[in-house]
Amino acid sequence: MPLVVMKFGGTSVGNPQSREQAVHRIRTQVEAGYDVCVVVSAMGRSGEPYATDTLLSMVRQVNEDVNAQELDLACACGEILSSVVMTATLCRQGLQAVSLTGWQAGIITDGRFGDARIRRVQPDFVLEHLSEGKVAVVAGFQGRTERGEVTTLGRGGSDISAVALGVGLAAELVEIYTDVDGVKAADPKLVPDASTIPVVTYEELCQLAHEGARVVHPVAAELAMRNGLALRIRSTFEEGVGTLVTAGDVDLEPPPFGVPLRPVTAVTTMDNMAHVEIDFPAHWDSSDELRLFRLLADAHISLDMILVTPFRKAFIVSAEKSQATRVALEEAGFTVCITPECAKVTVVGGGMRGVPGVMVRVASALHKADIDIIQTADSHMSISCLIREWHMQEAVRALYRNFYLGD
Ligand code: ADP
Ligand code: ASP
Ligand code: MG
Repeated sequence: MPLVVMKFGGTSVGNPQSREQAVHRIRTQVEAGYDVCVVVSAMGRSGEPYATDTLLSMVRQVNEDVNAQELDLACACGEILSSVVMTATLCRQGLQAVSLTGWQAGIITDGRFGDARIRRVQPDFVLEHLSEGKVAVVAGFQGRTERGEVTTLGRGGSDISAVALGVGLAAELVEIYTDVDGVKAADPKLVPDASTIPVVTYEELCQLAHEGARVVHPVAAELAMRNGLALRIRSTFEEGVGTLVTAGDVDLEPPPFGVPLRPVTAVTTMDNMAHVEIDFPAHWDSSDELRLFRLLADAHISLDMILVTPFRKAFIVSAEKSQATRVALEEAGFTVCITPECAKVTVVGGGMRGVPGVMVRVASALHKADIDIIQTADSHMSISCLIREWHMQEAVRALYRNFYLGD
């Protein structure tokens, strides 16, 4: 039988009405003749009783220093409860279903508590239940180490569980059901009427996810790409086919008359960043450069938008690492200038490869909106600009307009 993995996010399982919608989606696939493996997130978002943030803060209120292993055990409860509630809902509606924890579903990870990587998936137990005609409802975001310790996969990690199970079960398709009707040309929280992209490539989705588009976890996007797994992102609440993720070049509809060919598919943002600049005196050499980067590595500080020139080194770090960065560098004798409250805004598009004139459009859109660019970085399918955080929404809208993403 063909097999589909259907993943439902926090808002899709957060209350009885949402779960009814989810059941409707699941029933549709069962009636279409699929074996169905469902993956669920914890119910609701921050503030709601069984959401991941609520469970984390419940434990942290008792002891701020509780270790990551204990937190993982607490968090895992959210998804387990959610899978049981979803199973109960499915059974009440006349479907046969069974709930499974991540480890019962065979998700084995390394021991990085709070941010574990999946080592292998051994879904025999899932297959057994599917062969008995049941819907298997797996708790997302969790696994266990070889030694049996419970781990979680990092925030938003249920997407990873879904894709990993899709690979392990040789699914025909993985569907990510969420509160928006697909991957959009901009975060609808910043551009409320942002258009939905019917088709994106794996590469574009990976880039978007890495650059902050929360709709799919970047590791899930990468895993789907590496395994050529068909992926669709769609709404739990609205009809529609959502966004299909494909390999290779996308045959775009030709643009309307008078509108230039589109080099950019979407614009995305990452806020809460700090810009770090270090001046290098003329007599310093490459050993000082190595000393600088070695010491940041030893302090487990991850760098992005790295710029190296003979007299200046610059990069960004997350705001929470800003103070640790300053301390580490100043203690080692470096002169540091940190600009807090920065945001990275990125245009992404497979169509920009080798096309001249994209940067001038980015720069002119931002300059027309009176937004200064602090630094840039680029890849073969993206251009990122660092700006001050308070300009973020205006920057996204200016780029969205300039690249005709609403048309
Ligand atoms: P879930 O709980 O279903 O996993 P998430 O909150 O993780 O949902 O992801 C969905 C959210 O991603 C949307 O509500 C939207 O605000 C945000 N988002 C950011 N960028 C985009 C984008 N380009 N397209 C669609 N959604 C986006
Ligand atoms: N519940 C987890 C989180 O909030 C995992 C997920 O929703 O994907 O991060
Ligand atoms: Mg998510």
